[in-house]
Amino acid sequence: MPSSFSNLSLAEPLARAVAEMGYESMTPIQAQAIPVVLTGKDVMGAAQTGTGKTAAFSLPLLQRLLKHENASTSPARHPVRALVLLPTRELADQVAQQVKLYSKYTNLRSAVVFGGMDMKPQTLELKRGVEVLVATPGRLLDHIEAKNAVLNQVEYVVLDEADRMLDIGFLPDLQRILSFLPKQRTTLLFSATFSPEIKRLANSYLNDPVTIEVARPNEAASTVEQHFYSVNDDDKRRALRQIVRQRGLTQAFVFVNSKLGCARLARSLEHEGMKTTALHGDKSQDERLKALESFKKGEVDLLVATDVAARGLDIKDVPAVFNFDVPFNAEDYIHRVGRTGRAGASGLAVTFVSSSDGRLVADLEKLLKKKIELEPIEYEEDKPRGRINDGRRAWREAGELGDPRDALDAPPVRERMPVAQREFRAAPRSQDPFFDQPYQALSSDAPPAWEAGARPTNRISANIKSKRKVAALFKPE
Ligand code: AMP
Repeated sequence: MPSSFSNLSLAEPLARAVAEMGYESMTPIQAQAIPVVLTGKDVMGAAQTGTGKTAAFSLPLLQRLLKHENASTSPARHPVRALVLLPTRELADQVAQQVKLYSKYTNLRSAVVFGGMDMKPQTLELKRGVEVLVATPGRLLDHIEAKNAVLNQVEYVVLDEADRMLDIGFLPDLQRILSFLPKQRTTLLFSATFSPEIKRLANSYLNDPVTIEVARPNEAASTVEQHFYSVNDDDKRRALRQIVRQRGLTQAFVFVNSKLGCARLARSLEHEGMKTTALHGDKSQDERLKALESFKKGEVDLLVATDVAARGLDIKDVPAVFNFDVPFNAEDYIHRVGRTGRAGASGLAVTFVSSSDGRLVADLEKLLKKKIELEPIEYEEDKPRGRINDGRRAWREAGELGDPRDALDAPPVRERMPVAQREFRAAPRSQDPFFDQPYQALSSDAPPAWEAGARPTNRISANIKSKRKVAALFKPE
């Protein structure tokens, strides 16, 4: 198995672009997938985010498209040859940026289309002609209907983050899009896990695929230190502040289960003096890209996000991930925790478990195939709060100037106890009536259903489609 890019005999413009990226060797998914995709076979790849899978499909795909490369200005000479479908705008943008980097020394054109943005500039770009089109399903269908995108010359389709696309309810859209494509094509499917639904999707649309699995699914990176703390709902913010302070954390992702919770938590943390931004579906596309950018630049310390908004985002070296809420969907734990401890770096994953989370933790234990030890938190005296950002200073000072051992030590642990044996106390009632209301979608300018966030177990939002319905949409085997 070649591990160096030089063993691949990539065309010079692609090899040059890769060299410029500074990649020293191939990642496991690249070493396995690139040679297969170069042969034109279908691939079903199980790869977690951050494994380098974008290059794993983009590079061989671009190499195979080079035969169509031309410098003509005629749109007819630049039909869509490769289609890459992703579940979210941020992911589509991220993948498109990578494709642009890898293809920068070729005459192959690429473009990205996703919802939440004006269609006109996208239309102009499509009409000029592009060989590689990166898209989210809904917006692509809009362009197909408007006859801006013609897909009858597509040779390659990539279904990236396919499990998430199904979770969100994109199956009907995918089916429609795939119906516009030539039957003779190469299809690549990447998914974090191979659920029965993903296997059905593959059975329906892939032709004798080569299966590639690089890391056992349902397993968080071994470099991530994982803690599960027993925390009352009302104490979660305090616990978060304390751990951030004790560990001297500079940046962290904070995951929540709903858009409403996301916005509220970000606001509260900001009020408590922590520089925080939120990433969720109620924000405009522009706001979301800005939030992401400021986190990437280190201008904010905490990025509070829902699963859908954060899935697969390429943010390197996040030292810690907080599961402020235990995810409704156990597999999301793997995706969340995958944000830290990337590429061998060590990371910290902290999950707050409240008294009502027993079932979710049991689901998680099943997925992780291990008992989860709940740890209690001993709260320190909180620094008094003054104006906004006083707390931020206090937090910084404690991290930077306090006892250096504080920055290294884990929060004190009094006892460890398997979750199954633990008796949960009744959750104290929230004082804020807003918290007690079930989530209600905004009416007219409501965001798309798929942005509704994770799936509550006992209060299913009207916006969330059940898995069974999704499965029923497949052709019978
Ligand atoms: P992905 O899993 O495709 O989102 O990639 C995650 C990150 O890994 C991106 O920032 C890539 O630029 C980077 N990456 C991809 N391939 C390699 C490689 N062979 N060596 C180092 N970094 C890479």
